[in-house]
Amino acid sequence: MKKQLSTHPIFKPYQQDQQYFLPPSLEELIEKDHPVRVVNAVIDRIEIKELKKKYKGGGTTSFHPLMLLKVLVYSYLNNIYSSRKIEAGLKENIHFMWLSGMNKPDHNTINRFRSERLKDVIKEIFIEIVKLLIESGHVSLKEIYTDGTKIEANANKYTFVWGKAIKTNLKKMESQLKELWSYAEKITEKEIEDKEEINFESIDPEKIERTIDKINEAVKGKEIPKKIKQKLSYVTKKWPSQIKKYNEQEQILGQRNSYSKTDTDATFMRMKEDHMLNGQLKPGYNLQISTNEQIIVNYSIHQSPTDTTTLKSHIESFVESYKETPKVLVADAGYGSEENYEVLEKHNIEAYVKYNSFDKEQRKKDKVDNFTVDNLYYNKEKDCFYCPMGQKMNRIGEYKKENKNGYTQEIKVYQAQRCEGCPIRGVCHKQEGNRIIQVNLKLREYKEKIREKLLSEDGIKYRKKRPVDVEPVFGNIKYNKKFKRFNLRGIKKVDIETGLIAIAHNLSKIAA
Ligand code: SF4
Repeated sequence: MKKQLSTHPIFKPYQQDQQYFLPPSLEELIEKDHPVRVVNAVIDRIEIKELKKKYKGGGTTSFHPLMLLKVLVYSYLNNIYSSRKIEAGLKENIHFMWLSGMNKPDHNTINRFRSERLKDVIKEIFIEIVKLLIESGHVSLKEIYTDGTKIEANANKYTFVWGKAIKTNLKKMESQLKELWSYAEKITEKEIEDKEEINFESIDPEKIERTIDKINEAVKGKEIPKKIKQKLSYVTKKWPSQIKKYNEQEQILGQRNSYSKTDTDATFMRMKEDHMLNGQLKPGYNLQISTNEQIIVNYSIHQSPTDTTTLKSHIESFVESYKETPKVLVADAGYGSEENYEVLEKHNIEAYVKYNSFDKEQRKKDKVDNFTVDNLYYNKEKDCFYCPMGQKMNRIGEYKKENKNGYTQEIKVYQAQRCEGCPIRGVCHKQEGNRIIQVNLKLREYKEKIREKLLSEDGIKYRKKRPVDVEPVFGNIKYNKKFKRFNLRGIKKVDIETGLIAIAHNLSKIAA
């Protein structure tokens, strides 16, 4: 006879208040290959001498810096960037509890540690970790791939200061002041003595006050129209403080064109992430990294939106950190400049860095344009070019130009001797008279060498590897780790966060 199945549900035992003979240890509850163990093991192996020096003796006891560092790195590895969420994790999450040894620092302590104690030491910690990864064979410094991305600052995008607006306002003030000055001269019917040149390139509030005083003195007791009177009173009251404010803002700006008032170190830049599709500039920082096997081996934070001018200091920071240079550096055309080629040459680094016309050249290699300056023949001994009709182009001059970094380029000028009546003049140039070309001979030489390298077997290999080595790292940071905006303000603190995110990225690669 068939046995009747029970229709009653059967539950597993549930006794919340059950006493354990031996309470379970957190250690047992953490899986053997969990990423938290990687964070713990790696950070346990590094020296934190400099970090310890940040603590002064005496007073109350402090939470151990090693514990706080592990907790922060593990938080960044888990996309937890808020100190309050980290504090909650330390109370609720067994991985955090195990890592912290049941210590429970509050969000203020976590924040103070992150933004004050880690200042100026995070890069050293990062480098120590990379050195461990080199030892374990995960990464090498021989061949590095460099690229940059912009990350939004923790700053208000609607409260900005523009260098251009300051210059325009100063120009307007200058012309208004000049008008008032000539009005004062007109009604006094003589030139005002001790006339200082009103030059807003180097204006200071005292100078402006002196100028306004002289105008006020000249028109004193005279019948002047109400409009002028009002203008003069406005200028006297408002302008000195206005000029002072402009001077201070220009100091903050330095070489930049803009900054946000809520993070004065952040510069307005065009971001790749433009969800509104309106091309709006946002306050941010330019993050430069060098990678090997998708592991970050160097990072630097810049206030300039263009990658070209960042390579010099990025490489210098690499050399300072490791006391050695990479053998090979690969980067895209955004870095191909005379200054960068020179820096790499000086450090004895083999450059596989495209110049801006390289891709176009390759696409059109079957249709060589014999008329462009790059394709004209240059005779080094005679220092002259030959035009497409074989006419000699002699040097007629030279000049120098300086970039934002203060790097000086030498430009040489050459001219054809007789273009009149040339049958191909229409396709050759549109200038009046004989064709003039301006050439940077040093850059031309660099380009020739680089072209040869980029087209070599190694060059093809490196060019293929670049987009799969460095670019996915930005993808991981921005989209997997959802780190699209800094949480701290000011370049020093942004640098700390960059260090933490770079360490977290590297350890997550190892853990994977
Ligand atoms: S137009 Fe002048 S520079 Fe051009 S090919 Fe003719 S002669 Fe030479």
